[in-house]
Amino acid sequence: PNNSANWFKQVAQRAEGLGQQRLRVGVTGLSGAGKTTFITSLINQLENHNKGLLSRRAPFDRLESVRWQRDNVERAFPYLESLGALSAQPARWPDSTSDLSRVVIDLRFRPQGLLRKLQSTRQLRLEIIDYPGEWLLDLPLLQLDYGQWCEQMRQWLEAEPRRSLAGPLRDTLLGLDPAAPVDAVQLVDLTEQWRQFLLRCRSEAGLSRNQPARFLQPGSDVAPQMLQFVPLLLANRHSAGEQGSWWAECQARFNYYRDFVVRGFFEQHFRHLDQQVLLVDMLGPMDAGEAALNDLRDAMEAVLASFDYGRSGLLARLLRFRPRIGRLAFCATKVDKVNPAQQRAVQQCLEDLMVDRLADVRHGGVEVRGLPLSAIRATRQEGDALVAGLQGEEGWVRYRPGDIPAHLPQSLQVSSPDLLPLRPPPGLHRSEPFPHYRMDDLIAWLIEGAEP
Ligand code: GDP
Repeated sequence: PNNSANWFKQVAQRAEGLGQQRLRVGVTGLSGAGKTTFITSLINQLENHNKGLLSRRAPFDRLESVRWQRDNVERAFPYLESLGALSAQPARWPDSTSDLSRVVIDLRFRPQGLLRKLQSTRQLRLEIIDYPGEWLLDLPLLQLDYGQWCEQMRQWLEAEPRRSLAGPLRDTLLGLDPAAPVDAVQLVDLTEQWRQFLLRCRSEAGLSRNQPARFLQPGSDVAPQMLQFVPLLLANRHSAGEQGSWWAECQARFNYYRDFVVRGFFEQHFRHLDQQVLLVDMLGPMDAGEAALNDLRDAMEAVLASFDYGRSGLLARLLRFRPRIGRLAFCATKVDKVNPAQQRAVQQCLEDLMVDRLADVRHGGVEVRGLPLSAIRATRQEGDALVAGLQGEEGWVRYRPGDIPAHLPQSLQVSSPDLLPLRPPPGLHRSEPFPHYRMDDLIAWLIEGAEP
């Protein structure tokens, strides 16, 4: 009898150990992809799990309680501020992600099956790390030295639309002799001009690859003076310069950026992720046209390289560690802006754009799932063809979204879907699940990966 009591105790202890699980989910996407809105909605859906679509599906039908941790979270995601904006009158969209932030949510499930008697509860600690997708675009910098980066920037600036967007800055940079003594005041000025140029690339031409990414999204862990360097367009991989030269100064800052800022992010945060959600605003670039789609493809290919664990092991070699992301959800966002038949098409076009890279990621052992998504549905569907949403001062406006092809043509030439910016829907409240599209599918898939 003594023996069996011991055995029982041991099993119970083990079960308790199993009952505590941790799941770290990264959420990323380029600026404007919908990260802040998505995370706000995700917390809201979980907090209201017993009311919305979640209440009717596994494993949430076994979910007993949810606690969003508001204290003691380092670099906490501004959930309450975001809710404040969405439930204000008139409602506003929350402020976009500009830095890394974290959410911690404890979920307690009713246990299932044989362990039911031994294990009173089953806990899952869900940790969400929200970070700008642009930071991933810096990954390729890890394999470049400063001279090679200068060569690459010179190439980028030779082609339109960057050439025109750079304007006289390009001439100035082409006029700088890398070996000449640096002018510290001019360097500060040029850095600011480079940043302005990157901003124009993003806002005027819809370009996604804007380097160095931290010039636009510095994050709170980098001292501003460490971000003072520009590409010297006359320099190349064979260049050199004495101490105090333009070359030496810019090269030293570039090296710091590459070795501490870029590598630091991957080693401190990225390497601990179990699952990843990648959000993509596909409708914006489809609206902006071919150049924007081309650039989105290049940017997403660069982003997906961070999840490609197969191939020649580039990532592992560059990073000195093995990432362990098991699931990648790849989502076209804001699909409430088009009609139901088109929502699947938007996702399909996105997957067509990325087909080769997604195959690489799958081949490397990551489970990939594509899912069209709307974190907060801002429209009403009116019949099969019309959509109604709140626009500016006008209130509800009905519109017919333009054509979305079933597949993305190879030429990337699509007619613009002509979409206007929408306001959030009225009447959002923290204690009610926000209207959404397929958030439940996504959350279930992520959590399933942790087998609660
Ligand atoms: P972030 O920069 O990735 O954090 O993106 P945000 O979450 O700030 O979203 C950018 C903008 O996209 C918002 O201000 C909204 O205008 C729009 N948006 C985001 N999610 C949705 C959605 O689910 N539906 C609609 N209609 N618009 C959305």
